[in-house]
Amino acid sequence: MKVAIAKETAPNERRVALVPEVIGKLVNAGLEVLVESGAGEGSAIPDSAYVEAGAAIIPTSKVDDADVVLRVQKPSAAEVKKLKSGQTLIGLLQPLIDPQTAQALADKGVTAVSLDALPRTLSRAQTMDALSSQANVGGYKAVILAAEAYGRYFPLLTTAAGTAKPANVLILGIGVAGLQAIATARRLGAQVKAYDVRSETKEQAQSLGAQFLELKSVADAAGSGGYARELTAEERAAQQQELNGYIGGMDVVITTAQVPGRRPPVLVTADAVKLMKPGSVIVDMAASDLGGNVELSQPGETIVTENGVTIIAPTNLPATMPAGASAFYARNISALLLHMVKDGNLDIDLSDEITGAVVITHGGKVVQEATAKLLGIEVAKPEPLAPVAEPAPEPEAAPVIEPEPEAEIIEKVLEEEARAEEAAQATEAAQATEAAETTETTETTEEPETPLETPETSTTDGGKS
Ligand code: NAD
Repeated sequence: MKVAIAKETAPNERRVALVPEVIGKLVNAGLEVLVESGAGEGSAIPDSAYVEAGAAIIPTSKVDDADVVLRVQKPSAAEVKKLKSGQTLIGLLQPLIDPQTAQALADKGVTAVSLDALPRTLSRAQTMDALSSQANVGGYKAVILAAEAYGRYFPLLTTAAGTAKPANVLILGIGVAGLQAIATARRLGAQVKAYDVRSETKEQAQSLGAQFLELKSVADAAGSGGYARELTAEERAAQQQELNGYIGGMDVVITTAQVPGRRPPVLVTADAVKLMKPGSVIVDMAASDLGGNVELSQPGETIVTENGVTIIAPTNLPATMPAGASAFYARNISALLLHMVKDGNLDIDLSDEITGAVVITHGGKVVQEATAKLLGIEVAKPEPLAPVAEPAPEPEAAPVIEPEPEAEIIEKVLEEEARAEEAAQATEAAQATEAAETTETTETTEEPETPLETPETSTTDGGKS
């Protein structure tokens, strides 16, 4: 079976669906991997690296001859037209934001598989979770952008020239991106406060060293599947009012709040921005054409308000860190592809918990309920795979393995870093003691009349002579 990696064509998209490191696994599974020439350019991966890993380079015109096409973003209307019946397309297709493209793919007879439809709380699907891997990159990069735009230090710094106070950073929304933003801002030495409407995030934020803000105006607003529910208009107004009291005192605010299938909630109003000091920075990670968490943010732009607050509203942060983001994405998409491959061929088993969730169109029809609902059509029932002769015996219930929460993963990394730092400090101290002892021994064994090395001889040649 031929699997092609298409070069991304969306504006400013620099990621690529597969990186050379994962090609071996696909080849071992009996797949022929074809890469559109230049597909890895944006992520600094030359064609030759793909060839060395076992793939073949093909021109653009040959991509649509493959049985499976892998992408990061959904195809353009022109690209959909070129696809052929019976082909499978895998990517972040966003069927709930753009159900029309899903319909066009169904009309073409293409099997559309969307990574953003993956059930996120299934333990065995974690390696395929592209939303998490890309949110992780985004949360990290948002803090880096904020630190770059902020004209002062993030950490507390005591120098001969004076002391710099640590930056006060507020993270709004403690999902995957928010947790990574907390961890990154803490690593840079900032004082971090964080807030989310889901009260279960309190412990997660605290475990990463952030202070959790508890608002009196909004009770827990956890929705289904680990996501937040949309707040009522009254709750929203009360929340904004209460948040204003905190935002004014912040140097940096990073917003990551989302509600599935809805406009992102406005958490930082224009009035709140007026309360901030000149030089403060806001990064609105939720900004898109649907709106954002910051009333004044303009998607894709950086603006400076009259009172000197910089508002950055990036719309595709993972694409600004393309090599790192592609490496994670490649592991996600290859894990999902291999999950659906049997004996070197695709086996679309819609009764499988993972496959059934990510397949949006199949056999010329929209088969995913949520997308069909948006299109106002009946969801097509998946065809039975084979006649069932006898009821199969009840399988033994598999042990339920709880997925490792994102906060715990990040916390473990931080602990490992702390341990590594402690070990490095201990080694350094041991080396210093050893050096001191050696000097002492040398000094005591030296002949008393041996003249000491002059400072000139020890420094002018860098000690190399
Ligand atoms: P998301 O991008 O949908 O939203 C980001 C955060 O914004 C969420 O934490 C949400 O509660 C918060 N939010 C929404 N409205 C808000 C408001 N008005 N004020 C403040 N905060 C608000 O979330 P996500 O990062 O995609 O994560 C969604 C869920 O999936 C989380 O529960 C996460 O823990 C879970 N998840 C679990 C795993 C796992 O089990 N390993 C992996 C990935 C995600």
